[in-house]
Amino acid sequence: MKLDLHVHIRRHYRLADIRRAVKAAGLDGIAITNFHNVTFAQYLRERIDDFLIIVGQEVESSAGHILAINIEEKIPDDLEPGETIRRIHAQGGAAILAHPYLGWNSILPHGRAQQLPFDAVEAFNYRAGPMLYPNFLAKIGLRNLPWPKVANTDSKELATIGLCYNEVSVKPAPLYTAKTTEEMIPAVLRCVRQGQIRRREERQRPNWNWFGANVSHFLFPQNYYRCFYCGDKIVFKICRRRYACVKCGRREARNMRCVRGHYVCSICRTKIAFETPEFLAYREQLERSSHVE
Ligand SMILES: [Zn+2]
Ligand SMILES: [Zn+2]
Ligand SMILES: [Zn+2]
Repeated sequence: MKLDLHVHIRRHYRLADIRRAVKAAGLDGIAITNFHNVTFAQYLRERIDDFLIIVGQEVESSAGHILAINIEEKIPDDLEPGETIRRIHAQGGAAILAHPYLGWNSILPHGRAQQLPFDAVEAFNYRAGPMLYPNFLAKIGLRNLPWPKVANTDSKELATIGLCYNEVSVKPAPLYTAKTTEEMIPAVLRCVRQGQIRRREERQRPNWNWFGANVSHFLFPQNYYRCFYCGDKIVFKICRRRYACVKCGRREARNMRCVRGHYVCSICRTKIAFETPEFLAYREQLERSSHVE
């Protein structure tokens, strides 16, 4: 099975788009590790059966980010790393040290961290890639440490899911019902804990395509955004001006407008982005279970 074990899924993404992205990446499963929340991953697991969904969370421990893989109850943030891992294990989950060398939100795997009972460490993190040093340091610094190593994307956009992944020798299922999911996860976790993983990160070494895409995003932002009002192209100006929002009339100083002169303010843009049937249904379900977040 091919698995990306660190994926953030935004709450307004459409189910069809999530499905398409994971299938296009050729993955058999993902662990959904949003911050501060497991209910959205549970919501998706109930509705998606064409790949394995492992419910998880990226926990902000007092010393850095820890991935909790296969949990059902939210783990509180800001606990000591040792206590965070204890709570993950108490739920039968696996604790993975996320992006160990990513400065301010990581636990450097030296000294005390070495004594912590992590199940695995993220030796490669796609999002840390552009900075070059975290993955490079991980290559060197983790060489002699005993933890099994995984490669995850830490995707926040659907397009990057699966750009690196882990292969474990568990047979994929034709359909991931609640029953098959429950049966397969222990086998997957066993592979992770025992280090029976092939990390596939070759698609993600810094390369000219990647560099070109970043430069082009910076130089030609108009190719990447569309008007939220009419769908036409956006033009970027050098100087900011105050524009009135076509939706609510609020005025904001910005340097972009669509070619027809529409401006939609940041508040209205967020509102529109979240008006998907998926988000409204999720919201309704939360309210019904009086679990509003
Ligand atoms: Zn993180
Ligand atoms: Zn993350
Ligand atoms: Zn507005």
